[in-house]
Order: sequence, then structure tokens, then C-alpha cells
Amino acid sequence: MQAMKQFITTDEKLRQLVHALSKNAWNIISAGKEGTNFIYINDGKDLVINADSKPTKLSAKEFFFPKTEPLFFYKKNHDGVDLLDPKDVLRKTVLFGVKPCDAAAVPVMGKVFNWDYKDEFFNRRVEQTVIIGMACSYSDVYCFCTSTGLSPESSKGSDVFLKPAQNSSYIAEAVTPKGEAFVVEFSSFFDAANENDVKLLLNSPKGPEKKFDANQVKQWLDGHFEDPLWNEVGETCLGCAQCAFTCPTCHCFDIVDESCGYNCGRRVKNWDGCQFGLFTKHASGHNPRGHQPERYRQRISHKFKYYQDKFGEILCTGCGRCTRGCPVGIDIAEIAQEINKRNSVLV
Ligand code: SF4
Ligand code: SF4
Repeated sequence: MQAMKQFITTDEKLRQLVHALSKNAWNIISAGKEGTNFIYINDGKDLVINADSKPTKLSAKEFFFPKTEPLFFYKKNHDGVDLLDPKDVLRKTVLFGVKPCDAAAVPVMGKVFNWDYKDEFFNRRVEQTVIIGMACSYSDVYCFCTSTGLSPESSKGSDVFLKPAQNSSYIAEAVTPKGEAFVVEFSSFFDAANENDVKLLLNSPKGPEKKFDANQVKQWLDGHFEDPLWNEVGETCLGCAQCAFTCPTCHCFDIVDESCGYNCGRRVKNWDGCQFGLFTKHASGHNPRGHQPERYRQRISHKFKYYQDKFGEILCTGCGRCTRGCPVGIDIAEIAQEINKRNSVLV
């Protein structure tokens, strides 16, 4: 395997880079200063590059898979209907300071959006975006990236990956050809790193303790579609779908037609969630997942079994957002641990 190309940059240079990108009409996205969400910025002083920060409340997925997205517009005319494409001109975009658990979610979601049908909306956004990931030294009781095959230094999903070094500098690795092209295009902000530069790297963050064995979780799920566990954990779930909306990998959506009057309207793709009672309700009134425990079983099974069966990887990066924000304290890692125990595996 070819060694990743390494560069050195500094906090100050990255702020100047924001200025250069802005002048070249790039969209620039960074975590907001209060850390709640990712936001568009235009000024280097608003850039947040902080390995110690808590994951934002909402992940960065909405920049690839927006909360609501028009697929086309329609207008009736004398002879029929005119269909119009959405006029979104996608600008080149850079997403700064993305944690490993968010960056890794992009190629994971890419599997479902390129399965039987290639979702050009998702793919165009991914193609147009340079993801600048960053090593993460934050960890709380909710984090479990190390149980999902990732680590605080995983560069999966990043185009360029930053590792903090001494004196407010960073070693920047060009992970993908797109990332390398970006570094070359903006080479005045990145110098080739030599051996001495690499020695400036800070110690690798330890990351959270491994909490469960995901393979053993799948093994148990393979044989326990019906199990008392689903009532135990599902009955407390409120069906609010906070877990789905904040999750970087959840990708349920609904497609609806919205009328703008008598002769026009638009077809829109909106975020949805498998925890909602209406999600699987048929037009007949029948609901194959009529109760919350069945819906909770779907959430866990989709994350740790169905996605793996179909695409060979789990649908969870261990960011902990679903648990951090659950109003009734449902803890996905605890459930996975419980499954491990039921599978008689010591973790
Ligand atoms: S956030 Fe908690 S209560 Fe809401 S749907 Fe998810 S598991 Fe259920
Ligand atoms: S399921 Fe929970 S921990 Fe896993 S990626 Fe989604 S929000 Fe993060």
C-alpha cells in the first residue's frame, strides 16, 4: 500500500485557508463555536478545529443527505405537466474538523445510496465535498467508536486527516486523491512534512474502552428475531426518533408531494425514522411493526445485522449521539453489551 502523503500546517494557516477558499467561492463548513451544529462560515476566525470538543448535537450528514430536499418541481400546463429540476448549483465545499465517527459515516451511507439505485443527489454532494477529518481526543461515557472498528485516529471517510502536533500545528495526511488534489491546489497552506515535523505529533488519543463485540452482537441477532429483550428495551422508547435524526448513519427518508396551489408543486425527500409508528404503516391500515418493541428491534437489527448482511459493515460509528440525547436514557451500547452477555461472551 502506498504511504499516505504527509504535510504540516498550523492553526493560523488553516484560518488563512478559509479566507482563500471564501475568495474562491467555496462553501466552508465548520462546527459552530458553541459546538451544537456544523455551520457555514466565511471568516477564518470562525473556524473551530478542536480535537477535545464533544461531538456536535447533529452530525455532518445533512450536508450530504439534507433534512429536506426537492427532487423536482411540477407545473401543469394546457397539454400536461412540466417537470423542472431543482436549480441547486452545488459549489465546491470543504467540511473542516470532522471527527472520525462522523467522517466514517459518509462511505457507510454511500453503500445504501449506491445499491440498486445511484442517488445522484447524495453522490454529487460527496463528490463536491472535501472532508477534512481530525483526530479526536474527546471521550465520554456515551462514546464507543472502538467497539465499531474505528478509533480516535481513523481516517475512514476523510479526504485530508489532521493530527494535532506541538505549537498549534497539525500533521495533515492526504488520504484520498481528492484530498491530495486539494492540498496541492492550496499548497501555500500546507508544507511537505519531514521527519522532524512528524516528531512534533502529540501522543495518540486513547479513545473509549471497547464496550462490546459487534460480531457477537450480530451472531446473537441472527437467531433472536423473537426475544423477550425487545419488550424490555422497546417498551420505554417514546418513538421520538431523536436517535435517528442525530445519527450520522441513519438514512430513512420519506418522499411526499407538496402542492403550492392549484397547478404546481414539488416532490420532496424528507428525513424519516424507523421509530415512528407511521413509518411502516400501509395504506390499508396494517402496520407490520405495530408496536414500539418491534420498531426498536428494527433499529438494533438494522445497525448490527441487516446492514452487515447486505453491505458487509455495521451501520454505527459509535458516536454516542443516540444515547446522549435519548429523553428516556436508552443506551445502545448497553443493549449491545447485554446482547453480548446473552451470547455468553465476556467482553
Ligand atoms: S431517542 Fe430514545 S425514545 Fe426517542 S426514538 Fe430513539 S430510543 Fe426511542
Ligand atoms: S447508532 Fe447511535 S452511536 Fe451509532 S452512529 Fe448512530 S447515533 Fe452514533
